[in-house]
Amino acid sequence: MSHPEIQVRDLHKSFGDNQVLKGIDLEIGRGEVVCVIGPSGSGKSTLLRCVNLLEEPTKGQVFVGGTELTDPDVDIDAVRRRIGMVFQQFNLFPHLNVTENLTLPQRRVLGRDKATAARIAAENLARVGLSEKAEAYPSSLSGGQQQRVAIARALAMGPQVMLFDEPTSALDPELVGDVLAVMRMLATEGMTMMVVTHEMTFAREVADRVVFMDGGVIVEDGSPEQVIGHPQHERTRHFLSRLL
Ligand code: ADP
Ligand code: MG
Repeated sequence: MSHPEIQVRDLHKSFGDNQVLKGIDLEIGRGEVVCVIGPSGSGKSTLLRCVNLLEEPTKGQVFVGGTELTDPDVDIDAVRRRIGMVFQQFNLFPHLNVTENLTLPQRRVLGRDKATAARIAAENLARVGLSEKAEAYPSSLSGGQQQRVAIARALAMGPQVMLFDEPTSALDPELVGDVLAVMRMLATEGMTMMVVTHEMTFAREVADRVVFMDGGVIVEDGSPEQVIGHPQHERTRHFLSRLL
């Protein structure tokens, strides 16, 4: 594998007595796209949130770009800047227009000057096909457009890796395609991506690898053809059969 951009070693996470992650080992190479699938409650979101330390692991290690996030001495804010995250709920600032949504974090977190932040905002709005919405407020946009703004906002920070947690699950079916098209573009451009999704067509066509999780462990990890096309485990087969 190429240089691992994301590395998770023996990751455990409990909430009280609830053992949610029970020893996850995962490596994602630079430019690789890994889709994480699995039933509700299997720990997919918790895994993603541990990869940028929104949740603190109970045990184990997480490395991004070779830096150990779980090292107590690490400057977590500095590492987190390299990681873009997109959630099911778009989490845009409702009182700011689209451009301001993209410039505010650049200025606050990266200290960019106003002109630079505005230029990078415009570039990234163009990438997601929303240049004409630069002045619009989130409430006037469709869910799909809001999610594309959220992606552009993450991209404007210049992340090394992008994490997506069911980015299309809150969207009306006719709006899903535009968001997936943006994610496809990022994959083509070589972005390292970890994507929790139920979109099996996207996983088959875009992912380099598919990871099936159940009960806080990785049950299968392989090519889309292996994991979706020819699942080896009964749990994977059962999960996939319910999606059809
Ligand atoms: P998935 O994303 O696969 O649906 P999650 O990672 O969201 O699964 O949740 C896995 C389990 O962890 C669930 O049982 C959930 O209730 C529990 N959990 C997740 N986040 C928290 C939290 N902040 N506090 C307590 N329990 C949590
Ligand atoms: Mg989830």
